[in-house]
Amino acid sequence: MLRQAEQPTTMTARAWAVAASVLDPEVPVLTIEDLGVLRDVTVDADTVTVTITPTYSGCPAMDAIRDDLVLALTAAGFARVQVRLVLAPAWTTDWMTDAGRHKLREYGIAPPTGRRAVTGPIPLRLSVRCPRCGSLDTHELARFGSTSCKALFECRACLEPFDHFKAH
Ligand SMILES: [Zn+2]
Repeated sequence: MLRQAEQPTTMTARAWAVAASVLDPEVPVLTIEDLGVLRDVTVDADTVTVTITPTYSGCPAMDAIRDDLVLALTAAGFARVQVRLVLAPAWTTDWMTDAGRHKLREYGIAPPTGRRAVTGPIPLRLSVRCPRCGSLDTHELARFGSTSCKALFECRACLEPFDHFKAH
């Protein structure tokens, strides 16, 4: 008996699910879907094409994400995997899902405040909330934290340093 070929939509949904499970190497509690890095997954014959947009230009994590996507999809039975890097439109922190923001806070990284919160003609510098005690009395210690995608902050209330995922 012949096995019926999978419907293209089912294939795409399965490929998306596999791609969406790939974790961000910098913040391993977040998937690339949580981050909004995963933009598109298409299946054409035996080729899966995954489109990703890097969070930050020069973010070294993109090479690791590309390798992980190829490994995960190959292991899931997709013979050919292509990863497309699309730089425009540029990634913004607004693409991060609410689940992603929540996980980021639980992981101890202040989530991006995002552009949505900025109103008025003059972009105000928003306070970054301490992920440990919730205080807004924080200040930036270094423009670059543990990676180029994060800045190092310090909380004046609990005196703990923490990483802030940069909004841009
Ligand atoms: Zn604090």
